[in-house]
Amino acid sequence: MRFINRSQYFPPEGLNAGGIVAYFCMEIAASPEMPTYSGGLGVLAGDTLRAAADMGLPVAAVTLAHRKGYFRQHLDAHGIQTEGPQPWSPESLLVGEDPVVTVTIEGRPVSVRAWRYELEGVAGHRNPIYFLDTDLEQNDPRDRGLTDYLYGGDADYRLRQEAILGIGGARMLRALEYEPSVYHMNEGHASLLTIPVLEQELRGAGLQTATERDVEAVRQKCVFTTHTPVPAGHDRFSGEQAYRILGAERAGMLERFGCFHDGLLNMTYVALRFSRFVNGVAMQHGKVSRQMFPEYTIDAITNGVHAGTWTAPSVQEVFDKHLPRWRQDNVTLRYAIDIPENEIVEAHAAAKKELFAWIRSTTGIELRPEVFTIGFARRAATYKRADFLFTDPQRLMRCAESQGGMQILYAGKAHPADEPGKAKIRRVIELAGEMRESALKIVYLENYEWKMGALLTGGVDLWLNTPRRPYEASGTSGMKAALNGVPSLSILDGWWIEGWIEGVTGWAIDDHDDEQGEARSLYEHLEQTILPLFYKDQGQWRRIMRSTIALNGSFFNTQRMLEQYVINAYFPEQRVAKEPVAAREPNLEGTLAH
Ligand SMILES: *Cc1c(COP(=O)(O)O)cnc(C)c1O
Repeated sequence: MRFINRSQYFPPEGLNAGGIVAYFCMEIAASPEMPTYSGGLGVLAGDTLRAAADMGLPVAAVTLAHRKGYFRQHLDAHGIQTEGPQPWSPESLLVGEDPVVTVTIEGRPVSVRAWRYELEGVAGHRNPIYFLDTDLEQNDPRDRGLTDYLYGGDADYRLRQEAILGIGGARMLRALEYEPSVYHMNEGHASLLTIPVLEQELRGAGLQTATERDVEAVRQKCVFTTHTPVPAGHDRFSGEQAYRILGAERAGMLERFGCFHDGLLNMTYVALRFSRFVNGVAMQHGKVSRQMFPEYTIDAITNGVHAGTWTAPSVQEVFDKHLPRWRQDNVTLRYAIDIPENEIVEAHAAAKKELFAWIRSTTGIELRPEVFTIGFARRAATYKRADFLFTDPQRLMRCAESQGGMQILYAGKAHPADEPGKAKIRRVIELAGEMRESALKIVYLENYEWKMGALLTGGVDLWLNTPRRPYEASGTSGMKAALNGVPSLSILDGWWIEGWIEGVTGWAIDDHDDEQGEARSLYEHLEQTILPLFYKDQGQWRRIMRSTIALNGSFFNTQRMLEQYVINAYFPEQRVAKEPVAAREPNLEGTLAH
């Protein structure tokens, strides 16, 4: 174990001029062999950090170790989900750091250590991710498991975890000799980091002495991204819990500065109150968030995905050949419009073959490569409506029979406590069983995770998304599909409002107030437009694949997204010219303008 000085990571100049960004998130998908994420939030965090490493932007990230992972999903023949732990060992994959910091939780001192994972960007820049861990001998047995389960346990457990992440994380960064100039709270789980940042402002004076000016000093360092478009999705804790677990000094300070609403400690209000920049994760989500929190200014920065991570190897080869700098400069994917269509089609056929070979080897199920294949994979949260495609199963069946067949691949875990979500999975699996011998083949793949996500988004022909509006803050799996030339058919919510060009990047399910109307639009698109194009007009289908990459792959990536964070959230003041404008005026002598 070595002590790593931050200067080993970050060169003294360049993008480092603005200082270091500390990026906090409850879940980070750092690497496929570490089950430290549950879904879109963690994948987005990992993709953001991968983009930062590519760009040479100095970011130090903090999350929890989650030694028992999220969970391993098992589905029986009836579609009943059971969960098992996914233990992994930081000891064998990460580097242990020396410092140990202490956070007092429920009156007990809890020791916290950190494990370091290194992300390396395309040009060799390295950024660290610190995984916090309370599994230390000196800790009370009740506290040793605090960093074990992602989104496990009860509300007490969650608040204790948030104290470890926010308070322990900010203290850990200081113990590792970082002086972040920006703290980014990616979702409200991390908002307790504002407490140690405030304590630092107070230089030893108690939190009860904090004034509005001290809060303002904290705000100048903090930015906050909200990901949840419904009030119930925001973490809240009772006053009793807050005072008992965080202690009277901290809880009292939060209450005094307006972070309690309806008597509850609301983590979103903590982050809103202490941040100078707040954003939602798509244009529409920004609007919804402003309606939810009208007293705050809320921007929007639309999510993206990491292009190098989510492009199938066969498609990567085509990009490498035609757009050699696409990994450094994702905007060049715009020029995919000039790639010969047959090369994209062949690369996609290879990705489809790889997906089907993987399905055969893991499930024994044989799929047919010439048959139109739809993908639907995401957390089985009820608002995502996994069974929406089956609103009228007979119509779907007739559609498949009359047009040349259809294969539908499903995947997704329901949170262990989410009974309605589990019921959606059961329904899809029941229907899959009923249609076994028809032109419509449905497969529900067990234990959705990173590798499967990459295979699915690269290998299917159409990506389907049917959330209930306006619950999808952004959604990102359709962006992964787009990078691979796979168009979307989706409800107009989240990112799709921005990514949709009818018949060019995919198709929109018309807005209707009732599910029946939405379902009719879905079937009409499949019957009248999408299946006929796929089976009878390959020329047009190829052009759609290519324009999907050029228009949406070039924009909905984390490189563009992170550039927007740098310009608008992290270092807006650096956009102001520091030299007199005159000194920067170009010499026009000898040019046409002269
Ligand atoms: C991309 C991804 C998600 C997020 O998908 P959404 O469309 O944003 O819901 C969830 N889980 C895994 C494994 C992923 O790869």
